[in-house]
Amino acid sequence: DRLVSARRGEDDAAFELKLRPTRLMEFIGQEKAKEQLAIALEAAKNRGEALDHVLLFGPPGLGKTTLATIIANELGVGYQQTSGPALQIQGDLTAILTNLRERQVLFLDEIHRLQAVLEEKLYTALEDYTLDIMIGTGPSARTHVMEIKPFTFVAATTRPGLLSSPLRSRFGILLRLEFYTEDELRFVVERSAEVIGVPIDHDGAAEIAMRSRGTPRIANRLLRRVRDYAQVRANGEINRKVAMAALSMLEVDAHGFDELDRRLLRTIIEKYDGGPVGLNTLAAALAEEQEALEEVYEPFLIQIGFLDRTPRGRVATRLAYEHFGIEMPGTGRLF
Ligand code: ADP
Repeated sequence: DRLVSARRGEDDAAFELKLRPTRLMEFIGQEKAKEQLAIALEAAKNRGEALDHVLLFGPPGLGKTTLATIIANELGVGYQQTSGPALQIQGDLTAILTNLRERQVLFLDEIHRLQAVLEEKLYTALEDYTLDIMIGTGPSARTHVMEIKPFTFVAATTRPGLLSSPLRSRFGILLRLEFYTEDELRFVVERSAEVIGVPIDHDGAAEIAMRSRGTPRIANRLLRRVRDYAQVRANGEINRKVAMAALSMLEVDAHGFDELDRRLLRTIIEKYDGGPVGLNTLAAALAEEQEALEEVYEPFLIQIGFLDRTPRGRVATRLAYEHFGIEMPGTGRLF
């Protein structure tokens, strides 16, 4: 598996649980989203009502699940979690909705992958806390409107553009999560190191932060691998030298690029003259899934200005040419 993938891997789960901040105060960065949320939380608490439904969106690994659990903690209510792909039949969703407790949080990850019939079923539940249930079959079938408990629906997606507008309109609070700055990620690394009890200095944490692609999940994963290296090859403490040696052994470069990022950019530059090249052509050339490229690899490359998404396809930017030391066509000079 890819060390710098922002997607949750199988061995991340237990480790992440331990490192997950539980209160809004401990949640590093995302100041805009945090402020918006803090105000909504306080207002809902003062009124003694369920919080408005919340939609969290942004690339994987930036803290959407963490924020959902924080919302429940801050409200002092129950929390239940499921995901779009996990809900297969109407019965699954009906069972969850009819068993909700008063004002609790229901978190639905990957809502863009929820089946359309289930999405429609959600509408009345979100709107006025009722569910239409069919009783019987054939000519004697009738619909029964059932009341459910007022609850807060928190949904997360990496692809907000795929949500239908009726669904989107049912969320009162929309929170966009952004990539983290290096300083914020350094805090994440320092906080995590303290939780797992590994000594780390400022520069060591900064070195890991720099290579973490703006993503706390990756920062935590790299910290774990650097800790192993520090224990085996050094005295267990992480400083810049140890972090650099560990990360270069793991082939994570100064931008947090790995082999696939380099291959992606070089393919656009060398095979398609810098682009534009369509996503499906690019995916085929790299033998990678289109969805993974779009959701996991590209957002960070775009964020740091190495890649552009244009209506005609993907384009490698001047920064990408510079990075590989390749002359950009039409400029007549290196870089
Ligand atoms: P997402 O649901 O967006 O994929 P998660 O909420 O699962 O991301 O976050 C991944 C890991 O990153 C969590 O285990 C958590 O420890 C860490 N993390 C995310 N955001 C923050 C943050 N703002 N401060 C500290 N740690 C964070």
